[in-house]
Amino acid sequence: MRMTGDSPLWAKHNVEGTTNPPLTQDIKTDIVIVGGGTTGALTAHYFMKQGMSCVLVEKDKIANQSTAASTAILQYEVDTGLNRLMSLVGEQQAQQTFLFNYQAVMEMSQIVKEINSNCDFAFRPCFLYTQDPRKVDYMADDCKSRQAIGINCELFTSETHQDEFSFNFEAGIYSHYGAAIINPVQFTRDLIEYNIKKGLQVFENTTITDYNLSSTQSVLTTDAGFTITANQVIICTGYDALEWFKHEKPFYTLSRSFAILTKPVEKFHGWKEECIIRDDQEPYTYIRPTLSNSIIIGGEDLAVDNLDGEVANMGDRHPLALQQYHQLLRRIRHMFPEIENIKTDCWFHGLFVDTNDGLPFIGKHPDYPGAYFNLGYGSNGMLYSLIGAKLISQDVAGKNPKELEIFKFNRY
Ligand SMILES: Cc1cc2nc3c(=O)[nH]c(=O)nc-3n(C[C@H](O)[C@H](O)[C@H](O)COP(=O)(O)OP(=O)(O)OC[C@H]3O[C@@H](n4cnc5c(N)ncnc54)[C@H](O)[C@@H]3O)c2cc1C
Repeated sequence: MRMTGDSPLWAKHNVEGTTNPPLTQDIKTDIVIVGGGTTGALTAHYFMKQGMSCVLVEKDKIANQSTAASTAILQYEVDTGLNRLMSLVGEQQAQQTFLFNYQAVMEMSQIVKEINSNCDFAFRPCFLYTQDPRKVDYMADDCKSRQAIGINCELFTSETHQDEFSFNFEAGIYSHYGAAIINPVQFTRDLIEYNIKKGLQVFENTTITDYNLSSTQSVLTTDAGFTITANQVIICTGYDALEWFKHEKPFYTLSRSFAILTKPVEKFHGWKEECIIRDDQEPYTYIRPTLSNSIIIGGEDLAVDNLDGEVANMGDRHPLALQQYHQLLRRIRHMFPEIENIKTDCWFHGLFVDTNDGLPFIGKHPDYPGAYFNLGYGSNGMLYSLIGAKLISQDVAGKNPKELEIFKFNRY
């Protein structure tokens, strides 16, 4: 199965980062983090803050897998609307999840400042809209539920706000805060560099091939035969981590999501405040600007039903992929007819894991009590990673955060 197409967006649009050597000896550490994407980097950051000795191991290069193919929208609202999430997981847990994500956007901005990262982080409002007149009441109710927990949002309807957008909608929730855009590869590299200066040890081109897990001390073996002995093991291997759960009934669905980056446009006509935009279709379309005046539009997901099939293994120029990119281009031109000359700069795609409730899996799995998992599945992957990093590091420090309950394995 292929994680991404041939050339994920951010891998192409970033100058090569510094490289770190592979592991060439046996070592010991407090914490070993497996996986060098955004999740591994954030997890290392939170543990380093606690003054623990940390090792991060990456089988490839830093931030070269899903992190490089992300459209990198940071958004407090999760795939499942607040009211629906309340009916799935309970009122308190759903509200907590929305607030966690809201705070995580703020926390992300603080980390960007702290590490002085040049990762094009920028706050943006976000707009979730529907074109279905039957869903207007649903939007209005969800908006009220969000306002009730302190989210600064308002209901836009076609009567009140149609003139702010060039595409038609019946209603939508416009959130003034709680969303941002970022360059995920630059952020991840900067975060790792920052922590290397504080003592984090990073080994690239080092694959963990064997895990001898124990709740007191675990031993991990690399492809070159060296060992890492650690008090705690944190698995941040993204979609590769699904291997661990092959023996159980899948608790997730797999799809491939497509995206294009346009060439810079002159003006964002018909696009209020260059906000982040998402519709309520299944699969949904998501749109964001970049700081260099380009547009990223993603969606047109295809289900991955067969791991040996075409969708699971396609490259960038597969006819089916080309069809999805063209559909995205048509869609953006249709939504913004007043923006002149919308042309594709590059396209990319990546594997996407969804969970039944749209929430991630964070914490220990009953079959593997010797390891923590930080698996930010769902479209809020990056914020979930931050939430996971925070909760897991608190748990290791003995604070037993009760919020881990929300994201535990086997919850449905
Ligand atoms: C098209 C697309 C659009 C997306 N849009 C968004 C978005 O707008 N917002 C958002 O928040 N999220 C989005 N996501 C999801 C987001 O990309 C991921 O949630 C996030 O990047 C996950 O980061 P990660 O570090 O967990 O995974 P990865 O970046 O995949 O990192 C995991 C790392 O683990 C390494 N690894 C695996 N096995 C081993 C091993 N045995 N030993 C050592 N290393 C190992 C891999 O090489 C890899 O580098 C999108 C994803 C796609 C595909």
